[in-house]
Amino acid sequence: MIIQKQYKFYAAHRNEELQDKCRNLHGHRYGIVCHFQVQRTGSYSTLFSDFDDKIGPFLKEYYDHGMLINVSDPLYATLKNHMEVHGEDLKLREFQGPTSVENLAHQLFTEITQMGFELVRLDVQETDTSVISYDRNDWERDNAAQVFSQTEPVKATS
Ligand SMILES: [Zn+2]
Repeated sequence: MIIQKQYKFYAAHRNEELQDKCRNLHGHRYGIVCHFQVQRTGSYSTLFSDFDDKIGPFLKEYYDHGMLINVSDPLYATLKNHMEVHGEDLKLREFQGPTSVENLAHQLFTEITQMGFELVRLDVQETDTSVISYDRNDWERDNAAQVFSQTEPVKATS
């Protein structure tokens, strides 16, 4: 059985490698749809609140109203310097590569899997008209190719 859960967050980013409008700092309302494989035991499988209690707070703390940024983007060093000089604590979500929607899907898939959920597919909507569907095969292929890895492990949530 599959349970679908939807979440959203707002974040800034840019694609520093591209030579088009995406190079500029801009923001998105990211919508994600998680497709979980669950096992039914009696009348229940996994309570919707089990997902919401972990995933909702995690996205709020690490992604929402933050900035997705590639640690290799020169802007990253500039922002870190700004934070140090001005004593500001900006919410930066670090990526080990460009903050493309493909890499975001990989990172979120990893983080949600590490929470103990069995994701079979993750849809990530970046714009009104663009959604990518990222499934377990894509994730395993990306892991094998080591195209991308997150910088910090997911903090355990209670
Ligand atoms: Zn964008």
